[in-house]
Amino acid sequence: MFNNVSRRSFVVSAAAAGAAFGLNGRVEFLPSALAQDAARETGLNPRKLQFYKFKVGDIEVTQILDGEVIRPHAENFVRNATIEERQKALAAGGVITDGVPTGFTVTTAKIGDRRVIFDAGNGAAGLPASGRLTANMKAAGFEQKDVTHVVLTHFHPDHIFGLMDKDNQPLYPNAEIILPAAEINFWTDEGRTSKLPAGVQGLVQRINATLAKWSNVRRFEGGTEVLPGVKPVATYGHTPGHTSFLLNSGASQFMVLADVTNVKELFLRNPGWHVVFDMDPNAAEATRRAIFDRVIADKIAVSGYHWGMPGCGTISKDGAGYALAPMA
Ligand SMILES: [Zn+2]
Repeated sequence: MFNNVSRRSFVVSAAAAGAAFGLNGRVEFLPSALAQDAARETGLNPRKLQFYKFKVGDIEVTQILDGEVIRPHAENFVRNATIEERQKALAAGGVITDGVPTGFTVTTAKIGDRRVIFDAGNGAAGLPASGRLTANMKAAGFEQKDVTHVVLTHFHPDHIFGLMDKDNQPLYPNAEIILPAAEINFWTDEGRTSKLPAGVQGLVQRINATLAKWSNVRRFEGGTEVLPGVKPVATYGHTPGHTSFLLNSGASQFMVLADVTNVKELFLRNPGWHVVFDMDPNAAEATRRAIFDRVIADKIAVSGYHWGMPGCGTISKDGAGYALAPMA
């Protein structure tokens, strides 16, 4: 369980996460509470799915669970909604209300001979009750070594720490890692990162020690396909280079939204609520509204990284907000 090494790594990464996200205090996840998280029913994954498969034309998409955590309520988690308002929204969404249940679901795609994953999860030393991506890949029928391409949406810890072990050694050395130039340009620009809070400097260092140096990294700019059937869509705001990806095969389309929005019970319902993780909240909100309206108009099914399993479905307008009809 939590030996000294993994416990230490966890504290480092959780502190980095809290700071990266601008939380006032550390994100506190004590081992005992964490053990409970793993066992507790949150309402996010009622069918207890480890993975969920479907087709987009010829592309086989598999949604894979990396984990679920319960974030204790923190006043500044949403910049412009009270804890009471959040609890009401959670109750209306049919999930627990004494914390914020948060899922981590990695979208993966088999495109011809290519095995692609979009983001890499929390990693084994990340938030407890997460880090199950590689185990659940096996359940879904493939392994880490089968992954040919890792496509990154942005560099927050829950999306990239699964790329490296606790010593920053690469876990996907034989895969090509494809990432937005705008994102790496930000995190490697000392002029900009030095203005981030002290606690986030650990994340900055980790990015600079890994993604900025690894030779199996390909940076892209603009909207041209990064792989056959995979088109980037700039969705800046959550982070300076946050990018979604449109999958396309024949007449079928699907969009990997990643963190265009966070927990759906709160932020899909209330697109004007600003989660503390959005680095530029106003840009993030404008992006969110524009992309939701686009996928509704174009009838594109989508996945969201923090929606719980299966983590994918169809968005529709619902009053002043949006609703998700899950695929399963
Ligand atoms: Zn995230």
